[in-house]
Amino acid sequence: MALPQRKTDIGPPHYEQFLPPVIKKNYGKWKYHEILSPGIMVHVAESGDEIYTVRVASPRLLSTDTIREISDIADKYCNGYLRFTSRNNIEFLVSNKKNVELIKKELKEKGYTIGGIGSRVSNVVHTQGWVHCHSACTDASGLVKVLMDELYEYFTTKELPNKVRLAVACCVNMCGAVHCSDIAIVGVHRKTPTINHEMVVKLCEIPTTIASCPTRAISPDPAKKSVKINEDKCMYCGNCFTVCPPIDIHDPENDGVSIVVGGKVSSLRSDPKFSKLAIPFLYNNPPRWPEVVSAVKNILETYAKHAKKHERIGEWIERIGWERFFKLTGIEFTFQHLDDFTFARETFRTSAAFKW
Ligand code: SF4
Ligand code: SF4
Repeated sequence: MALPQRKTDIGPPHYEQFLPPVIKKNYGKWKYHEILSPGIMVHVAESGDEIYTVRVASPRLLSTDTIREISDIADKYCNGYLRFTSRNNIEFLVSNKKNVELIKKELKEKGYTIGGIGSRVSNVVHTQGWVHCHSACTDASGLVKVLMDELYEYFTTKELPNKVRLAVACCVNMCGAVHCSDIAIVGVHRKTPTINHEMVVKLCEIPTTIASCPTRAISPDPAKKSVKINEDKCMYCGNCFTVCPPIDIHDPENDGVSIVVGGKVSSLRSDPKFSKLAIPFLYNNPPRWPEVVSAVKNILETYAKHAKKHERIGEWIERIGWERFFKLTGIEFTFQHLDDFTFARETFRTSAAFKW
């Protein structure tokens, strides 16, 4: 017996109601897909039906004017059907072949960049940065903008050995996909938070604050009616700041970013992989972050030069070995690359065993 339809605003509506009719009609019966150009691909069904995908870049944080504009374009050429990928590419789903050239022309005229499909860089998934989040160690939108200004051609025309997924997270809580991206930038704090005891008494629940620390670095300080932090145990995650703002983690002089490499979600050819540390720390240098941009470009171009066709960055590094990765990229190998966190009780060593 069919259950009565609930009317609720909890949870997402069923995706099926948003599928273009041609996808509904041919669901599970697709024969092949083909990349026609850097930002356009076609899926062909067993029935002979086709659907064209036209991908454009987005800055992720979109104005309502932009959302209205892309919705109007989708209404005009795709019966309103468009989607955002998990990395915030905008994809227009065109079921009438005649509209492909027309939508391409209008998107170009309106200043959108078509690309990102196939063996190249796609849109960069990123977090909130200084625009929104209270615990950001770096900006996200700003970093992504300067990065893509430099790597623009790898989105539009230039080919790489395989697709390269980039990500930026502005702290280690990591609302982005940094752990499973080919090259990712992650913001890091590097100092134990400072405590404003007078305000802790007024604003914070002591048990909740103590419980917020994943490494049990926080304990009560009865004399001050506040808390104290064991500096040796602190890993600068900023969790305590979230529940108790007078414990302040921000430090403009010492905050910056790490760069991790080699992660992927796909299980094609090799298992999914976690990203691993390549560069432990670079200072924030807004508004253009030249050191970070050139470090990412160096890793990308070294991979482009040395990897075999179809190898993802992680697969390339595993084939040549991490020692050779450090040699080829010229990145310094430091003690931070040894993955032992003293207070984790057991080692989290998951990285390659280095020979030196
Ligand atoms: Fe906030 Fe960290 Fe998420 Fe950035 S990654 S939005 S700082 S929680
Ligand atoms: Fe604990 Fe993280 Fe706060 Fe350090 S920053 S005291 S590890 S919650």
